[in-house]
Amino acid sequence: MRKIYLISLIFLVLESCTNEPENFNETNLAAPAERGCASYDVLQDQIIKDPGLAERMEKIEAITRRIQSDERAYRKLADGTYVIPVQVNVLYGITAENVSQEKIVSQIDVLNEDFGATNSDYNTTPSIFQDVRSPNTSIKFELAGITRKATTKSSWRTNDDMKKSSKGGIDPTNPATTLNIWVCDLGKSLLGYAQFPGGSLSTDGVVIHYQSFGRNFTDNYSNFNKGRTATHEIGHYFNLRHIWGDQTCGNDQVNDTPVHNTSNSGCPAYPHLSTCTGQPVEMTMNYMDYTYDQCMYIFSTGQKTRMLATFASGGGRNSLAQP
Ligand SMILES: [Zn+2]
Repeated sequence: MRKIYLISLIFLVLESCTNEPENFNETNLAAPAERGCASYDVLQDQIIKDPGLAERMEKIEAITRRIQSDERAYRKLADGTYVIPVQVNVLYGITAENVSQEKIVSQIDVLNEDFGATNSDYNTTPSIFQDVRSPNTSIKFELAGITRKATTKSSWRTNDDMKKSSKGGIDPTNPATTLNIWVCDLGKSLLGYAQFPGGSLSTDGVVIHYQSFGRNFTDNYSNFNKGRTATHEIGHYFNLRHIWGDQTCGNDQVNDTPVHNTSNSGCPAYPHLSTCTGQPVEMTMNYMDYTYDQCMYIFSTGQKTRMLATFASGGGRNSLAQP
């Protein structure tokens, strides 16, 4: 998987070196073969550039570990409902990139279903995972506003330029209290990326490629048209790691998810077995894997705990919403 991502990166670099603008009239409906999410790579880059970030994130981890081991503190957090105002920032060169209000509303609906465990495919969870799948996470989303801006840039990269008006992008609106989502063209292989808690407020939020934003629109990538790219990226925004821990048999800091060999793509046949130690059946239907939108439909209970821990004092998302 990482090899493929590296190859894509090399292509991106080569592409930008040729300095030829992409054809604005060409929409790219040929879906990427697998989910491309740059959150982890962007984080590694940010840690190098921002000397205080690793320490800030470790403090958030310490608070998370405390909540994970303190049932009473967790119950107090879980008793609340967290309503997150969402600002959608749309950068468009072609009409398809100027996503409609209807598409934006469909995306908010998906988030409320997926984080509320009211998504219709939730009930298709294999029996082995039914006890461990998360019920309603208590996180809700409300559209606060939409900012639109025309751009001559045909494809944005992962350097956060879309979040800066000085670079032709759109500055975030009240990032301490509002989840900002940028919708733009991320090129042909990336579906999105998010900033983890602890990062700079000026770049806080998630970025979604316009062809994987919203639900059931025919001008989107067919395997990424259920709005789950935003579910996955907002999982990162609430401090969830990829289910394979971004390394072979890695640790996602959640105890109730199985250890995965690596990322899964497409729609894996059930059961998909891991060769790592522990329970071998992989939770390929988890939002934090890399499968197609139609094949991911649960968070785990441990992931819910980890997300809610961000609302504790010092947890990284405490200013976003109060129960
Ligand atoms: Zn991801």
